[in-house]
Amino acid sequence: MDFKDLNLSHRILDALEKENYAVPTPIQEQAIPLVLAGRDLLGCAQTGTGKTAAFAVPILQLLSGRPADQKEPRKIRSLVLTPTRELALQIYESFRSYGRYTRLHTCVVFGGVSQKMQVEKLRRGVDILVATPGRLNDLMNQGYIQLKNVEILVLDEADRMLDMGFIADVKKIIAKIPQKRQTLLFSATMPKEIEEMVDTMLADPAKVEITPPATTVDRIDQSLYFVDKDNKRKLLVSLLEDESIRSALVFTRTKHGADRVVRELEKAHINAQAIHGNKSQNARQTALSSFKNGSIRVLVATDIAARGIDIEELSCVFNYDLPEVPETYVHRIGRTGRAGMSGTAVSFCCIDEKPDLRNIQKLIGKTIPVAQDNPYPMLITTPTPKSELRRRTAAPGGEARKKVSAKKEAAGRNGFAESAKGRPPVKKYTEKPKWKKTYPRKG
Ligand code: AMP
Repeated sequence: MDFKDLNLSHRILDALEKENYAVPTPIQEQAIPLVLAGRDLLGCAQTGTGKTAAFAVPILQLLSGRPADQKEPRKIRSLVLTPTRELALQIYESFRSYGRYTRLHTCVVFGGVSQKMQVEKLRRGVDILVATPGRLNDLMNQGYIQLKNVEILVLDEADRMLDMGFIADVKKIIAKIPQKRQTLLFSATMPKEIEEMVDTMLADPAKVEITPPATTVDRIDQSLYFVDKDNKRKLLVSLLEDESIRSALVFTRTKHGADRVVRELEKAHINAQAIHGNKSQNARQTALSSFKNGSIRVLVATDIAARGIDIEELSCVFNYDLPEVPETYVHRIGRTGRAGMSGTAVSFCCIDEKPDLRNIQKLIGKTIPVAQDNPYPMLITTPTPKSELRRRTAAPGGEARKKVSAKKEAAGRNGFAESAKGRPPVKKYTEKPKWKKTYPRKG
C-alpha cells in the first residue's frame, strides 16, 4: 500500500514525501481510513510504530477539509492529550511537519515552563492543541482555554496517563468537551481502568492492534556484562572508549544515579548530560537537542524522562541498571534499531539484579549473550540481604521507588524512580514488523 491509496490530499502527501515516508506503517494503513471515515478508534500500539502520523495525518486532513464555522480567532477543534512534555513536543512537531502545507495552526502546552508564551499563542487562535493534562487543566481554570469547539479528541498513551496519576485531570478535561465528537484512544496495554474509559468515552470504536516496536528485539545485538555495582561506572567508561559508538543512551534507575554517571563520564572526558525529572524543562530540552544534533555523545536518562523520546540513529543503548519491569527493557532497547536500522544494547547486571535479569529473559524468550571481554568481571556473588536493600531505599536521599512519585518525576518536582507496581502483564513479542525494512529513513 502507498500513502496515495489512502485518499489523502496533495498537501498532506507532499508533506509526507518531504518526511521521506514512502509507505504507511501498519497502524497508519489501518487507522487512517477509519479516522477519515469519522469512526472512534481504539489503538493498541505504542511509540515507534508510526502511531503519531496514524492520528495526526487524518486529523489534519479532516480539519483542513472542514472550514471552521466561526470567526477569527480560531477555536480549538482538535485536542491531543499525552502524558509527558517530551511526547507533547514530539507530537506537536509531527503535526507541524505533516501539516506544513495546510493552513492549520497547532500549539503545544505543557508544565515546567512559563505559561506566558503558551497563553500568547493560544490568544492568537489555534486549530489543534497538544497538551499534557496538568498544564491544560491549569490554563482552563484560568480561563485561557475553551474546549467547546473540539471535534476530535486524542488520548495518547492512555495507560501511561493512568500510571502517572493523570486520569482525574483527563476526566475533568473530557467533561468540558462536547459529547458529539470523534475520540481516538491509544494505549499500549489495556488495564481495567482504560477498558472502562473506552466503554464510557468511545462510541462503537474500531480497533487496531499493532505489535509494539519491542519486536525489534530480534534485530538488536544484545550483550550482557555481569559486573559489581561499584564497577559499573568504570565498565561504562571503558566500553565508551570504542569510538564506533557514536551516540549512547544510558538508562539508570534513579535521577541521582543518572547525575553520578554523568559526573563520572565527564571525569573521563566523555561528553554527557542527564535528563530526568529534577532538571528544568529547558535543561531537558537543551540536553535532548544537543544529543540529537550530535554535540553530546552520551545521554543518561531515567525511564520516565526518556519515555517516547524518538532519537534517530541511536547507535547504542546501555542498561546501566536493569529495569525492574521486564517490558521496560524492551521499550528501552527499542530506541536503537529503530525503523530498519540495526542497533546495539548492552546491559549491566550486578548480583542484586539477577532476579530482574531472569524476568527479562523470560519475557523476551531468550538468554542475553554474556560478553566475553569483560574488564570488570563480577566478584561479589552474595546478594545484599533484603533488609539492607530496604534500609538503603528508606535512607534520606536513598534510591526510593515510590508509585506516587511517577507523576512528580514527570512534572519535574522531587520525584523518584519509575514504579514497577501496578502494571498489567504484557504479551511476548515475537512478530517482526515488515514496514520497518521497506522505507528509507527520514532526514
Ligand atoms: P511514532 O511511533 O509516531 O513515534 O513514530 C516513530 C518513528 O517512525 C518517527 O521517527 C517517525 O518519524 C517515523 N515514521 C512514522 N511513520 C513513518 C513512515 N510511514 N515511514 C517512515 N518513517 C515513519
